[in-house]
Amino acid sequence: LRGRGAGAAMAAPALPIRRSRRELVEAVRERPFLIVTGETGSGKSTQLPKYLYEAGLAKHGAIGVTQPRRVATISVAQRVAEEMGCELGALVGYQVRFDDCTSEDTAIRYMTDGCLLRQILTDPLLSKYSIIILDEAHERSLSTDILFGLLKKLFLQKKPEGRKTDMKVVVMSATLEVEKLSEFFGNCSVLHIPGRSYPVKEIFCNLLSPRDVGSSAYAVKVTLDVHLNEPEGDILVFLTGQNEIERACDLLFKKAESIDYRYEVHDRAVEGLLILPLYGSMATDQQKRIFLPAPRGIRKCVVSTNIAATSLTIEGVRYVVDSGFVKQLNHNPRVGLDILEVVPISKSEAKQRAGRAGRTSAGKSYGLYSREFWERCMPEHTVPEIRRTSLTSVILTLKCLSVHDVIRFPYLDPPEERHILEALKELYQCGAIDRRGHVTRLGEFLVQFPLPPNLSCAVIKAASLDCEDLLLPIAAMLSVENVFIRPGDPQKQKEAELQHQELASQVGGCNDFATLLNIFEQCKASKSPSSWCQEYWIHWRAVKSAFSVERQLREITTKLKQLPDFPKETFEGSRTEILRRCLCAGYFINVARRSAARTFCTMDGHGSIVYIHPSSTLYNQETLLDWIIFHDVVVTSKIYVRTVCPVRYEWVKELLPRLHQVDAYELSSVARE
Ligand code: ADP
Repeated sequence: LRGRGAGAAMAAPALPIRRSRRELVEAVRERPFLIVTGETGSGKSTQLPKYLYEAGLAKHGAIGVTQPRRVATISVAQRVAEEMGCELGALVGYQVRFDDCTSEDTAIRYMTDGCLLRQILTDPLLSKYSIIILDEAHERSLSTDILFGLLKKLFLQKKPEGRKTDMKVVVMSATLEVEKLSEFFGNCSVLHIPGRSYPVKEIFCNLLSPRDVGSSAYAVKVTLDVHLNEPEGDILVFLTGQNEIERACDLLFKKAESIDYRYEVHDRAVEGLLILPLYGSMATDQQKRIFLPAPRGIRKCVVSTNIAATSLTIEGVRYVVDSGFVKQLNHNPRVGLDILEVVPISKSEAKQRAGRAGRTSAGKSYGLYSREFWERCMPEHTVPEIRRTSLTSVILTLKCLSVHDVIRFPYLDPPEERHILEALKELYQCGAIDRRGHVTRLGEFLVQFPLPPNLSCAVIKAASLDCEDLLLPIAAMLSVENVFIRPGDPQKQKEAELQHQELASQVGGCNDFATLLNIFEQCKASKSPSSWCQEYWIHWRAVKSAFSVERQLREITTKLKQLPDFPKETFEGSRTEILRRCLCAGYFINVARRSAARTFCTMDGHGSIVYIHPSSTLYNQETLLDWIIFHDVVVTSKIYVRTVCPVRYEWVKELLPRLHQVDAYELSSVARE
């Protein structure tokens, strides 16, 4: 169980895919489109690209492998580089948003699906590649779904003019409605990798109160029960996000420390528990630890987000503890925005999670929910992202790729028409498309930034005023996760809050965007940025990433500014006023006017009543404000807006009519032309 060595120049492990090697290589050689399915962990992501490379199929271009998740992209690339005995970024590399670790020599390029989508913008024939592998297709992420349609359109029938060789497309997935996908790609072949897995006993935990469902505290209790009562084998716990995971790890750590280790388990003394968190925004070297076997006699316990369900396989897991929930981006029709929500997972997702316990021997899976919850609250399947999130960015991408008819684009699962119309309307409102649905020059500028269109809009406004120094740091800080440390301990929490307030008051205390700029600038100017961050309860890793993101955004901005038709404007005003006006240019869609003592009403036609989130520095200052714009929204029983900036009516006055003077059907009727 724990014998697998790690670290040394590695021979490829004996994975189920090995037996299908020849068949796979031949199938790819012979066919333009191929679907490969196989149990998670059978070796698809790590081995197939290598097989194809070694068979000489990458002679005329690289092998591009897409993944929906950033962490998995980096982790798999690392693994393959190790197995092939090369440095990461040489023969094997990865590319994710704001982090490119590839070179001219990179023949196997792992990248996020969003990255490949952006590459098509500059190179529609993907001339760099000989093979594109879309991995984790069962996740049905928005970008992968769009890539399905684009690759079908571009390469299914014939070799497009301008390409030297045929493009090969391989779609890989754990379990998927394979027939539907095969039909979509002109009835292409499907190759299944036979795998083996052991039976997993699925157990519904007895809940003491409904509050226990999926809670971190309950997860900790069940995990310790497993640790103390079950024979050897590692534990994998599924929780929803970083905060829940960190909290659970702290709790586990405290409780595990107090365990009396003379306790006998099946005639074997429990010696200890190695607790490892796993989530997307963790440092990569920390993530690597989850793959290392625990020292002898110690049980490994990985507390993870959904990422360990299919994207990453951890060997040796025999027990799964499943909260039954996931954080999911959903479009909220009440506010017309995408909101990150905690929702019950689907039954198929729950089975997938449970299956992680049966890779090396028979296992057990403990669901932190009742049978009734399973039956009543968990849907059969997960809804594909394309049917539940905002389409604004991808529709702009399609428009820039000259796909004008975005309604009849070949979608595997077409989104609802009203969602497409909503996206068109938003693109019109920010000036990215004209009344006939065609991309404007501004739209072409906007798409250059790997940012949401409204944020790009604000950046472009600032650049046209020669003030990008104000907006680039903000855009960068909004692109990284978890800037503020919010400790669980009440005493420490108070301390942290005071420091955060101090940072806000330095900019007048009335603008969350300016606070982000202040943090960026102060940290940059400080002699020791990491201790500065520590003093102010700021995550140094987040700000450090923001530094790198800012540099990359600056490069894009500088290039755009050199174009002769890039807009130039002048404006007299104070620094804060210019900043706020630039923000208005992008965020006027998210504008709200105060409607009562503490509430605001959005002006986008939804007329939602919103509150300022307690984490904002404008919380409790509502009565001083009339008009605000905001970056994002949290929905509980009320709708809260976060990252807020007060604005003046005169600034939004001219922009407001754009919110109403458009009939989305007019935009789409052209789309149907
Ligand atoms: P699939 O794509 O079929 O789900 P993978 O190729 O991702 O399978 O995984 C195959 C094996 O490689 C698994 O046993 C997994 O534990 C191992 N593996 C993948 N990435 C890493 C890594 N970064 N470090 C160590 N082992 C890894």
